[in-house]
Amino acid sequence: MAANQNREVSVRHVLSFDVEEHFQVSAFWSNARRQQWDRLESRVEQNTLRLADLLAQAQTKATFFILGWVAERHPGLVKALVKQGHEIASHGYGHELVTRQTENEFRDDIRRSKGVLEELTGEMVFGYRAPSFSITDQTPWALPILVEEGYRYDSSINARFQRSRKIRMQGCVQEILTAAGPIFEIALPTTNLCGIQLPVPGGGYFRLLPYSASRIVLRQFEKTGTQFVMYLHPWEIDPDQPRMEGAVISKLRHYLNLKRTEQRLKYLLRDFAFAPVVETIQPIRDMCQIPV
Ligand SMILES: [Zn+2]
Repeated sequence: MAANQNREVSVRHVLSFDVEEHFQVSAFWSNARRQQWDRLESRVEQNTLRLADLLAQAQTKATFFILGWVAERHPGLVKALVKQGHEIASHGYGHELVTRQTENEFRDDIRRSKGVLEELTGEMVFGYRAPSFSITDQTPWALPILVEEGYRYDSSINARFQRSRKIRMQGCVQEILTAAGPIFEIALPTTNLCGIQLPVPGGGYFRLLPYSASRIVLRQFEKTGTQFVMYLHPWEIDPDQPRMEGAVISKLRHYLNLKRTEQRLKYLLRDFAFAPVVETIQPIRDMCQIPV
């Protein structure tokens, strides 16, 4: 039996993965590299299946925000995740920052990825997460377009945008009324340090800080009954991935502690209870009519 089923569960947190190739991250973005995507070594399938194995060992399900570009090239991976009971959501199609797209380009990107994923899974795709959480003050049209294209929730808004829009999150979910209708926002967690809300999400922070820091943060969330939204990428458990050329700071952030991430994830799955968005966020579960 999974360790997290042996402990008293006070809060079920959200566990999510952004499924993309190691060479598609925004930190290494360039037009020239994009032209090379189909010629670079693909490692996303093996890394994602490795994550799925870790989750199976912990009897835990998660939400996988998958790029349409990846889903087209690895349809078996998407189907395997569905078979194992994970939620499939959209990470867009081509991993272009929302801030670099026009409204029409954004609509095409999220429509294309939803279409690819729904065709493969035979199920509705409800959720979207933008590359690098790039829905910002510069893209006020993004949430209404998501509603128009049939998405029910978004998980792309960072702490700075929440502050500027004065979005007051109660827990990790908030219903936002857009001109096109309502959408639920699943916020990445923040913590208050000296009166300033700072992001404390997964990804690079999880690799940068010792595991004990993550454990303390999650325990603090649990004390107030608040759900934590954890996110990671498949390439973050792959210390052997080919090294990309790029800015020194990008390389530092991308390759830091890759050897330690898998073990830290095992600790996290041992110490805390997680579930996909559609199962653990009550208003979304009600809306999507997922049986408990
Ligand atoms: Zn991404």
